[in-house]
Order: sequence, then C-alpha cells, then structure tokens
Amino acid sequence: MEAKSETFAVKGTWVLVVEDGEPVLKRDHYVRIRGNTIEAVSPDAPSATETVIEHEQALILPGFVNLHSHCLNGALFRGIPDDAGFEEPWLARIIYQLLLPMAEITLQTLSPEEARSIVTLGMLDIMRGGTTTLVDQWNVRQEVYFDVAEELGIRAYGAPTIMSSSGVQIDDKGALNFEFKSNETALLDNVVAMHRRRDGSAGDRLRVMLGPHAPDTCSPELLRAIRETANRIGCPVTIHLSQTEEEVETVFQRHGMTPVEYLSSVGLLGRDLIAAHCVRVTDRDLGLMAEADISVANCVVSFARAGVNVPYSRTAGRGIRTGIGTDSHAMALIEEMRIAGFFSKLHEGSATAATAHELVRAATATGAAALRRNDLGRLAPGCKADLLVIDMARPHLQPVWDPVKNLIWKGSAADITEVIVDGKVVVKNGRSTLVDEKAVMRDASAAAAKVWRIAEQRGLLSRALCAGVRQV
Ligand SMILES: [Zn+2]
Repeated sequence: MEAKSETFAVKGTWVLVVEDGEPVLKRDHYVRIRGNTIEAVSPDAPSATETVIEHEQALILPGFVNLHSHCLNGALFRGIPDDAGFEEPWLARIIYQLLLPMAEITLQTLSPEEARSIVTLGMLDIMRGGTTTLVDQWNVRQEVYFDVAEELGIRAYGAPTIMSSSGVQIDDKGALNFEFKSNETALLDNVVAMHRRRDGSAGDRLRVMLGPHAPDTCSPELLRAIRETANRIGCPVTIHLSQTEEEVETVFQRHGMTPVEYLSSVGLLGRDLIAAHCVRVTDRDLGLMAEADISVANCVVSFARAGVNVPYSRTAGRGIRTGIGTDSHAMALIEEMRIAGFFSKLHEGSATAATAHELVRAATATGAAALRRNDLGRLAPGCKADLLVIDMARPHLQPVWDPVKNLIWKGSAADITEVIVDGKVVVKNGRSTLVDEKAVMRDASAAAAKVWRIAEQRGLLSRALCAGVRQV
C-alpha cells in the first residue's frame, strides 16, 4: 500500500544527516514528510492517526543521485559486452561497433511501445537500485524517456545526445575514422525546443540538459554553440570526456591538445559541466578541471569490464567534485559504490581511501551539488522528500556497528525496501507501486530479443564474440 496521506513519517533506527559538514547517524528519529518536502527530522513520534513507514531496524538515507547513465542501453545490452572477445581497441569497438549500432536498430525497427518497454525496464532497475535523481543520456529521438520517468515517479534529467559525427568506422589497424555529415545545428535546435516543452514538467521532476557526446565526435563550432546556449537557457551540460586512448589520439591529431584542453579552448569547461569518465586525463588536465570547477561522474564498473581502472579517488583526491554514475552496466548504486571503493583502495594502497561514508556523500550531496541542487541529496527540513529505507534486519547486515559501512561493503540493491521520490512512495517492499513489473519484464525482454535477432542477422552480434555459451 502506498502512503496516501498528505503528511506521513518514516521511522529510522538510524537516519543519516550532515551536521557541520560531517555525517551523523541520528538514532530512533522520524523523517516527517509534507507534500513533496521534508518537514522535520525529529525524535518526536507523530500522532497516532499519521501514517508511519517502519521496519524492525531501518536505515534512512537520502536518495541517490546517479550522475551518468543510459537506461535504454543498460537493459538492451544486459550481459552482452561482459567478457566479449572484441579485438583492441576493445572499448572503442564496443562503443562504435556494437552499442551505437544496436541503439540505432532499436530506433529504426521497434515500435514506440516496444522501445518504451526497454526504457521502462532500465529505469525500473535503476530506481530499485536506489536512484531517486537520474542523469541519463539518450538519442534525441527517445523523448519517451520523459514519459517513462513521469510514469515511474523518478526525478529525471534527460540529456539528448548532440554530435557532429554521423558515423564512425574502425579500420584494420584499429584507427577511428569519423564521418561528419550530421546537421549539428538542427540537433541542438531540437534539444532547445525539447527544453521549452519538457523542462520543469511533471511538478518540476523533469529537467532537460545539453548532452554533447564527446570531444572526438563534436566540432569546435558545435561546442561553442552549446556553451552559448547553456549560458542563455541556464541548463546543465554533460559530456563523455577522455574515455579512451583513441579519443585522446584523435583529438590530439585534430587540435594538438588533450580532450580536456580542447574543451577548455572552446569554453565548455565550467561549473555547470558534468564530465563522465575522465579515464585518460593528465595531471595538467586535472588542474584545468579543478580550476574550472567542473564535476566528474565516476563510473568504475563500466570500465572495469574492459580491464581499465578509473579510480574515484583520483579526481576526488584532487578536490574535483566527483559523483557516481552507473553508465550502462549494472544499474545499482550500492554495488557501484562498493566497486568504486575497492578500486580506489587498490589504487591508493590504503584502507582509508574512499570510505563508505565518503562514497555515500559522493552519491548523494555531491551529485546534487553537481546539478546545483541544494534541495536534493540531504535529509534536512526544506529539502525535497527523496529518500531510501533499508531494512538492516538481514543476516548479511547484522550485527550493526555502523549501518552505512555494513550496507556499502556487504549490502545490495535488494536490501532497499522503500524508495520515496518527491514525497511519494514509488517502491514499496522492493517493488514499484506504479507499474506492473512482470508485464514490464515480459514486454522488454520480447523487444530486446527482436533487436538481438536483427543484430545477429547483420553480423554485429554473435555468441562466439560475445561469450555466451551454447544454449540447447
Ligand atoms: Zn555514457
């Protein structure tokens, strides 16, 4: 049952708040919610008539801000790129020879309802993993993303991809050749029109961002126009930055600069920019990024599958605002944080690198700060009522010394019982309150199977290459 009253409370054995810049766990407190806002975090019990959500031992956290994702791809490619035997350059081949062509097949061959079902599955998975605010990048023809976000109740920033390149070929030596035929101005105009239509809709849960794809696929003229547009309409910008060695080489050949220097030279670096990945950045790049006060979306798992470490601590340790994203691998933030933590500890050779509390801050308040949202990522009066309830009364989470440490190092998405967004219980006892999950899984799996069949026919996809054992 969804909590129906205008006001309700969530009882926490532990409620994570921030006092004087430090995390503090309030014992036996209530988070009181009025409409879409947190009214109080208090030890006072609500009146007997008020609805209270409670569990035997509940940990209450701010909802997670997922700073970089592709929920269509997350569902469509589930299990395919993992262990895949592509030749080097592995990442570039996966991106340009598998992911982008398969996303294009989805757009060309599926009905709007079929495409919608895949987006719904991806977003459902993301929400059950604790994301309450999602930054997602997708093809400009997938505006259905906003309809799905409205239906599922998530807070969503959509960044339709803008690029100058209409295609990329990879030659026998692994070199990338870009075709520049796309009408980049028309793409930008489309997104500006979408901003007018959608930004602030669904009770201000939906926002539109500008999403230039990457330094190797965007011309200087396009990036300058995006900077000018972002300043004019006041929306955040997100870009993939320094993802692969091939991107670094391509940008150096064209402009004689690193990708970060290139973005700096066209004026794109700034407080409103969220750069995803930043795998191949130099020390000088890190200095430019810190100076320009940009934010980074660290997505460690997506690169780990290719054997590449992108330590969260590398950018966070330089004072660069670093949040967490799931990209298009698994969509659960707790697991993403855990792997980010272990990879940082390995990189730094230190147990104190990337602590559980630091990672939770990265996935909450830091993510909110990247979006310049003071009203998100915190459990405090006046903030939006976006929060998670975790039932700690489970064998793998007991006994409890520090519930946040138990959750990040031992827990999983399945431990999240309630997800509350904008004062509405959108996941209850681990299930969506707003859609029929079985129907979503059935429809999305059928739609994905259709795409996979076509991709196999076109030679993009094979079990031999993508490491699936024979099924008989
Ligand atoms: Zn991405």
